[in-house]
Amino acid sequence: MKNLIRLLIVFLSVNAFAVPESIPDRVRGEGPFERLILRGVIIVNGEGAPPVGPMDVLIEGNRISEIRNLGLYKPIPEAKRIPVQPGDRVMELEGHYLLPGFIDLHAHFGGDDQGVSAEYVAKLWLGHGITTIREPGSFNGLDWILAHKARSEKNEIAAPRIFPYIGFGLGETGPFLTEEETRRWVRKIAKKGASGIKFFGAPANIMQAALDEAGKQGLGSAMHHAQLDVVNWNVLDSARAGLTSMEHWYGLPESMFVDKVIQDYPLDYNYTNEQHRFGEAGRLWAQTAKPGSEKWNQVRDELISLDFTLNPTLTIYEASHDLMREMNADWQKEYTPPALWQFFQPSLISHGSYWHDWTTADEVAWKNNFRIWMQFLNDYKNHGGRVTLGSDAGYIWKLYGFGYIREMELLQEAGFHPLEVIRSATYLGAEVLNMEDQIGSVRPGKLADLVITEENPIANFKVLYGTGHFKLGADNKPERVGGVKYTIKDGIVFNAKELLADVRKIVREAKAESGSSGEP
Ligand SMILES: [Zn+2]
Repeated sequence: MKNLIRLLIVFLSVNAFAVPESIPDRVRGEGPFERLILRGVIIVNGEGAPPVGPMDVLIEGNRISEIRNLGLYKPIPEAKRIPVQPGDRVMELEGHYLLPGFIDLHAHFGGDDQGVSAEYVAKLWLGHGITTIREPGSFNGLDWILAHKARSEKNEIAAPRIFPYIGFGLGETGPFLTEEETRRWVRKIAKKGASGIKFFGAPANIMQAALDEAGKQGLGSAMHHAQLDVVNWNVLDSARAGLTSMEHWYGLPESMFVDKVIQDYPLDYNYTNEQHRFGEAGRLWAQTAKPGSEKWNQVRDELISLDFTLNPTLTIYEASHDLMREMNADWQKEYTPPALWQFFQPSLISHGSYWHDWTTADEVAWKNNFRIWMQFLNDYKNHGGRVTLGSDAGYIWKLYGFGYIREMELLQEAGFHPLEVIRSATYLGAEVLNMEDQIGSVRPGKLADLVITEENPIANFKVLYGTGHFKLGADNKPERVGGVKYTIKDGIVFNAKELLADVRKIVREAKAESGSSGEP
């Protein structure tokens, strides 16, 4: 009966109101425990400290309460350890790595377009160690995202913590025409419980009013500087007006132009045509100030002085320079449901499916684009700027969770030390959310949001992929090792492999249901 009612609710919600299905009540994960002891871990604390261990970690409820360094004695003297009391939950984790839970600052739940359930998405996130997301846009609606935020806080669902950055103007019938109605909307979403606003572009006076009011209401802000408004409002305008973080990279090269005001568009360009839009974007970094030039340095330094955050989402553009790699990535086979596979196909309708006729020249342009962009990111970091991690998965062949781990690899390619990558993924992400006193590093007093791995992720980020790392094992036999072992969110221990098995089951069932042989 309960199932029947649920089915009816789902039916009504999908058909009558078009509200996406909610995440079902949580059945996975154990805890929080009165006392949970993680024994013998090597800690990467997220604040930049090198790996250190073995350590014993005591978690009481949802908080880390004690960390003890055990030294390199063999065997470890019992007197040095955190004493185990009757009833304690003990995990023997000798040789395992312990990191802060990862923070994905650009994490869409997906929806009708992708044809994926929120359960599928949330389990891919948790299965890859992501314990906190910033949800930009809230395409499933304000009420949907706020309800899920609340249920995640109460641990009723298997999902990361959710910080909704509501799409600017969401719920309104048209664009804002006055500053007053702009401010009214900002106050409304603040009152309802939004964490911030996601912008895409608006006239300068409206941007000013929105950002000013967001600051007053204590809301964060993120912006994708779309080409339609970027000539009048680039990232420097945003940073000066109080925007706290920029998404992707659009608006940044435009703020450093020295020999033009408008991007060098071909004369038959049309923004609605996504092959034009993404193809020409790949030729944009080459049109701006050269690395190390006066203009480059000046913009970099001003943005840093304004405490401005770059959230590049390199990973979502990766298919632009290597389409075949992304289409055939190891995880597509078992983790991509047919509807999402369909959504990724070249199309005039689906966003991000711009492979109408993608050429060698397009890929080469994008490779060069990445080289300059990566230089800026590394330079920004080295001069004290904050660079964070976001995935934007659910588009352009990128899967939730997997795309985030790939972002770690790409920042390493940009010149970041793996420890700098982890700091960006955890502590700096927490700073953007104003949560650095609660999450983002492994410290007594902080919430128990943690990632546990059997292999050393600092030596190789590939061990964090749900599909593991493919390598040669004993007896000359290739094997897959790694994958996150446990993700702890709010003191609840999730078996990451179990979550990913759930995801594969969801995909298998979707394939069976659709009658699709399941390309790929
Ligand atoms: Zn996005």
